[in-house]
Amino acid sequence: MDLFEYQGKQFFASFDIPVSPGDVATTVDDAVAVAERLADYPVVVKAQVQVGGRGKAGGIKLAADADEVRRHAGDILGMDIKGHTVERVWVEKASDIAEEYYASFTLDRSAKQHLGMLSAEGGVEIETVAVDNPDAIAKIWIDPVVGLSEDVARQWVADAKLDDAATEGAVDILLKLYRAYTEGDADLVEINPLILTPEGKVHALDAKVTLDGNAEFRHDWDGFEATQERDEREEAAHDRGLQYVGLDGTVGVIANGAGLAMSTVDVVNQVGGSPANFLDIGGGANAEVMAGALEVINNDPKVRSIFINIFGGITRGEEVANGIVSALGRVQIDSPIVIRLDGTNAEEGRTILAEHESDSLISKPTMLEAARAAVELANR
Ligand code: GDP
Ligand code: MN
Repeated sequence: MDLFEYQGKQFFASFDIPVSPGDVATTVDDAVAVAERLADYPVVVKAQVQVGGRGKAGGIKLAADADEVRRHAGDILGMDIKGHTVERVWVEKASDIAEEYYASFTLDRSAKQHLGMLSAEGGVEIETVAVDNPDAIAKIWIDPVVGLSEDVARQWVADAKLDDAATEGAVDILLKLYRAYTEGDADLVEINPLILTPEGKVHALDAKVTLDGNAEFRHDWDGFEATQERDEREEAAHDRGLQYVGLDGTVGVIANGAGLAMSTVDVVNQVGGSPANFLDIGGGANAEVMAGALEVINNDPKVRSIFINIFGGITRGEEVANGIVSALGRVQIDSPIVIRLDGTNAEEGRTILAEHESDSLISKPTMLEAARAAVELANR
């Protein structure tokens, strides 16, 4: 779950990370009211969209008085930034900036550790720094069991060559940021820029946070959940409790298990097709779940064929096959379906499917053959 900057700052503030005082507004009048409440000009008016480079796009403006807030908020609200319409602005007290740094934590899946990145070259996009000046990014890998100690954080700050005046503030924020990342169940926390003010204070001027949706049950994230930006397909899938990510292709994909769903997306690409989505129906491939998944995919106008890739584990092949057949009796599907069923009792399952085979319901014994058939149907 991706947060807007203002939500990221609320999240940071709850872990005691210093951010500028401010508030969110959806109208020009509200933006002016926020600024007047802050009563501490200049303020910054910032477009709230889940995309970087807002500054360059004209979505971040300093305002010296209420009239300027009115003008800037008027310009920014409704603005299009890289395909995202600005519906909210965040108005905060402006900061004086001496230095701009970069700090983040994310998961390095291949290393099975947390990855911290820190750089004295903040403000610009980190991808640019990584390409032009990779040595300017100090990286540390953190064993989640060991965690991040103050000593390690201090050495890290030294390695990143932050200014001496920033050391104490940076160490403090990095320890808090690590706590926010782990205890807050985030997949990514990023501060760019992390600033040093002329007075020697370090604080977060921007916030990019991705929360781990699987941890939602142990947090109160209703406020964040309410503003999630989903396309229609993703909304429909979310309502049915399905793990779905919309893509741009023509082959609808249904698989059980996230790993298999990803492999299915890969194999569709490999044989020259383009997946319309990622959809993991989870462990129990019963009729109810399958019908919901088929409905979601069927409502995607780009879909030309559907590839159902199921590996029976605890759910046996005949249950899966019966689930599919029963789901097809419930929903009218416009595109031909190719099924690969394997695993526990696959033979029994295939026998059931064979009774229902037609031009629009085809069973294939392997993942590769099924992918080829689905792609061929989509390209026809
Ligand atoms: P992004 O462009 O979407 O990453 O938005 P940021 O929030 O990172 O802001 C972009 C840039 O605007 C920063 O790197 C700063 O240079 C500038 N900026 C943002 N807030 C302030 C502020 O309070 N004071 C000043 N002087 N500049 C700011
Ligand atoms: Mn930024």
